[in-house]
Amino acid sequence: MMTFEGLGIDARLIQATDELGYVNPTPIQEQAIPVLLSGTTDFVGLAQTGTGKTAAFGLPLLQLITVENKHPQALIVCPTRELCMQIVKEIELFKKYIKGLHVVAVYGGTSISMQIRDLKRGVQIVVATPGRLIDLIERKAIDLEQIKYVVLDEADEMLNMGFRDDIEFILKNTPKRESTWLFSATMPPEVRQVSKRYMNSPVEITVGKANTGNKNIDHQYYVCSSQHRYETLKRIIDFNPGMYGIIFTRTKIDAQGIAEKLTREGYDIDALHGDLSQGQRDAVMGQFRDKTLQLLIATDVAARGIDVKEITHVINFELPDDVEVYTHRSGRTGRAGSQGISISIVHSRETFKLRQIEKMVQQPFHKLDIPSGKDVCRKQFFYFMDKLLQTDVSHGDYETYMPMLEEKFADVSKEEVLKRVVATEFDRFLKYYENAADLNARVETRGRGTERTFDRSNDRGDRDQGRTRDTRGREFSGGDGNFARLFVNLGTKDGFYKASFLQFILDMSDLKKENLGRIDMKEMNSWIEIDKSVADKMVSAVDGKTFKGRRIRMNDANSRG
Ligand code: AMP
Repeated sequence: MMTFEGLGIDARLIQATDELGYVNPTPIQEQAIPVLLSGTTDFVGLAQTGTGKTAAFGLPLLQLITVENKHPQALIVCPTRELCMQIVKEIELFKKYIKGLHVVAVYGGTSISMQIRDLKRGVQIVVATPGRLIDLIERKAIDLEQIKYVVLDEADEMLNMGFRDDIEFILKNTPKRESTWLFSATMPPEVRQVSKRYMNSPVEITVGKANTGNKNIDHQYYVCSSQHRYETLKRIIDFNPGMYGIIFTRTKIDAQGIAEKLTREGYDIDALHGDLSQGQRDAVMGQFRDKTLQLLIATDVAARGIDVKEITHVINFELPDDVEVYTHRSGRTGRAGSQGISISIVHSRETFKLRQIEKMVQQPFHKLDIPSGKDVCRKQFFYFMDKLLQTDVSHGDYETYMPMLEEKFADVSKEEVLKRVVATEFDRFLKYYENAADLNARVETRGRGTERTFDRSNDRGDRDQGRTRDTRGREFSGGDGNFARLFVNLGTKDGFYKASFLQFILDMSDLKKENLGRIDMKEMNSWIEIDKSVADKMVSAVDGKTFKGRRIRMNDANSRG
């Protein structure tokens, strides 16, 4: 029998794994550890959860880290906050006998300033969800210069969730990467493409059966409280800009109501339900088939017999009463060998029903985090950039207008034109999602396995204005610790948005972005967190100045009474 020692794992780690009761390595550990310990070989491991893959990459990482170096050297990227926390928990156990080695989890839905503080303390391993990591990169709050190892855990899941651009962005932002380790339960073409583009002749290992079952359909679910179903639906649609999908509701009133609401909000959607005449029904179906409609919302009865190719997503606005109906619904996607996604929006009390369906479908259902407003905006941004690049301009009579255009834009730089083009398309998303709430219902296990759901919608992470929760769920008020909280008498009604505000105050003072914590914009006024040490400097630079003709008042939020 193989031992961890035989695989090259050092004594400090073996002491810890012994205490955890690991006697022999699991198959994935046996095959991965010797390869990963080299530190320079790219690696693809096809393995399901439960095979011991966290230790398979965690142990070699811990052994490769230079403890004396307090900069991040390893980055583990995974799809959800739950997985993030789970990985950190395991790594904490493995590193018990390595002094001075720190690991931090960064994920959305919780205060970013706390995570920035954790990062500043000096950590060698960062475990992150893609969205929050990019947020930190954009704020220059994380140093990726010395990252040598990048682990992509549950890569198929991250790509199914639509994080491809984000993953690529992350890989491009780790210039000193010496090796990339990718773990995935399945190997769909998207994962293969990422490995081809960003990895160098990876060693590939499969444990157990990869690609089991009907791999054409990925079953995903989001947990929110009942009153946030509609907002969650909207977020899912916005997060999947190329979606061509069917949404299922249990009642025709829901189908009709949601279709009307979404249409008012600018979506290409119509409803199919039993009250329509044959003519109306044919008209709706015709528009959906020729893709004039991006979305169709239907009851099960009305959708009977519909066969439309290329449907990318099926969304269960609510789970069906009858579990067999689920199979019919999800079977509308992933047809003829194409890939499809079946999404369910569920309340935590429905997880029992979900487990029943999972058993019947004989496929694992993946719980995903409801994307944050920032995730949605970034996704739309990437989508728009691609659309812009791919726009076919060969058939229009554009040449006729070029001289006029050139004259009009003679004094505007290309950069400025691009910004304006993006803003035209993008502003509504930025504004809509600027202060978007976290819609994930947090399920916590209490004593003997009882689950309780907490509504997180007031828990706006880095976006809320006063109260938020730390990683352990305790409430705290902003402006504690190293941050002072400043009040500003201008808000969105004064044409003040986060980005313009940030630019304005950076222009007015010689402070850096890194000095700032949360910025919370409200209609009438705003709050901003800043390092206590430079708060006075900021106030004297900004207080009394004018912005768009209005005099700015800025002072310590706590001294306002
Ligand atoms: P994972 O696939 O990383 O989620 O691991 C599944 C479970 O197996 C975790 O609870 C680990 O603690 C456990 N585990 C991992 N490696 C071993 C091992 N070599 N021997 C016994 N248990 C293990």
